[in-house]
Amino acid sequence: SGKWAQAVTILREFEEKCGTPISKLKQVADAMTVEMHAGLASEGGSKLKMIISYVDNLPTGDEKGLYYALDLGGTNFRVLRVHLGGKEHHVVKQEFEEVSIPPHLMTGSSDALFDYIASALANFVATESEGLHFSPDRQRELGFTFSFPVRQTSISSGTLIKWTKGFSIDDTVGQDVVGELTKAMERIGLDMRVTALVNDTIGTLAGGRYNNPDVVAAVILGTGTNAAYVERAHAIPKWHGLLPKSGDMVINMEWGNFRSSHLPLTEYDQALDAESLNPGEQIFEKIISGMYLGEIVRRVMCKMAEEAAFFGDTVPEKLKIPFILRTPHMSAMHHDTSPDLKIVATKLKDILEISNTSLKMRKVIVELCDIVASRGARLSAAGIVGILKKIGRDAVKDGEKQKSVVSLDGGLYEHYTKFRTCMEDTLVELLGEEVSNNIVIEHSNDGSGIGAALLAASHSQYT
Ligand code: ADP
Ligand code: MG
Repeated sequence: SGKWAQAVTILREFEEKCGTPISKLKQVADAMTVEMHAGLASEGGSKLKMIISYVDNLPTGDEKGLYYALDLGGTNFRVLRVHLGGKEHHVVKQEFEEVSIPPHLMTGSSDALFDYIASALANFVATESEGLHFSPDRQRELGFTFSFPVRQTSISSGTLIKWTKGFSIDDTVGQDVVGELTKAMERIGLDMRVTALVNDTIGTLAGGRYNNPDVVAAVILGTGTNAAYVERAHAIPKWHGLLPKSGDMVINMEWGNFRSSHLPLTEYDQALDAESLNPGEQIFEKIISGMYLGEIVRRVMCKMAEEAAFFGDTVPEKLKIPFILRTPHMSAMHHDTSPDLKIVATKLKDILEISNTSLKMRKVIVELCDIVASRGARLSAAGIVGILKKIGRDAVKDGEKQKSVVSLDGGLYEHYTKFRTCMEDTLVELLGEEVSNNIVIEHSNDGSGIGAALLAASHSQYT
């Protein structure tokens, strides 16, 4: 019927606008490299903040002792205790506990939030086993993974630029978050020093490097997306400090905020952005990351319902609710291998209250998921190639066999298999077989927590 043809036209137009041929991806990768240069040249020189992390030494494997880490990045936070055994023994033991943040604390006062965190930490410290007691003259040390935008002022201090991800506590903004945590620990009599403040990308990079000396960059594909990499300090014009002994400096790119005229943006992305909490910001993140992929699918489905009566004469009420279709739901539909697409039918019914879908309709939905996921995955690959170009690892020099490893982490990468394989295949497509043989994508399982503990160790006041 005409309606069906209309729906297919909407799908095809969307597909065309989402197109990521290799030529376009190369332009995106080049634009990423250009913006990296601009962000390193001057503060505010690019949409990419290219934040100097003050991490100029990554873990070597020699780190020894008992260290704590705190990972605050979403609705949960985790406390970790890591026993490092040095070169021979590596991580002897690790323990962690996950604690959820009560919603009222996400929008309350700074003291209330940090008191809560400090007391959870104190409870965890109290479970330290007998044999591991610290000598009384030695302070416990902590690496703090804090995944919100921070203006770093040293390895162990930084002021909060703004809250994101549902947090909104006015009196923390502009404050040193390490100072806030330290004051809270003092209030409850917990004697502990924060020796490293990092975000999840830096933690993942540090954790990755600990296991593999060839790690050069880390990428997070989770609710949001970001990347960090090792830069040569003399290639950072905006850095006016002393050149570190290592010659290296880790850069937190904040690549979620990347944008370029080469990005394939559609009317649906524009509307999503305009109606978001941060219009005009985080454009790369809004077409790649787990927070948004399902929502883009919903928006296209909505258009098909409105203009082509795809689900019948009325638009299903549930389909009108922003963010009702989460990326894990989309992923489940996309991976449905049953001959009658049973899972697609179930998801449509359970989440959107759409029943009686035909197999033909379900196939359209799967194709829609594929278009959205492929675009995100291929653009992520282009971003990684942009980093490899910046550090000169995108070509084979004199038959060299130097490996470059990129540590990946985040729920999207971990659980969305089609996204992950598409990203990895696209990397090979972009770099060619020969170069690809030297590029390794490695899942850094929970690198960010251990990474923070490792950085706490390498920045210990006692070494
Ligand atoms: P965060 O980024 O908040 O630190 P994670 O790295 O665990 O947390 O990523 C969580 C995100 O990963 C979710 O918001 C979701 O978008 C995505 N995700 C989780 N599970 C799946 C899944 N099965 N399929 C696709 N995406 C998933
Ligand atoms: Mg995370």
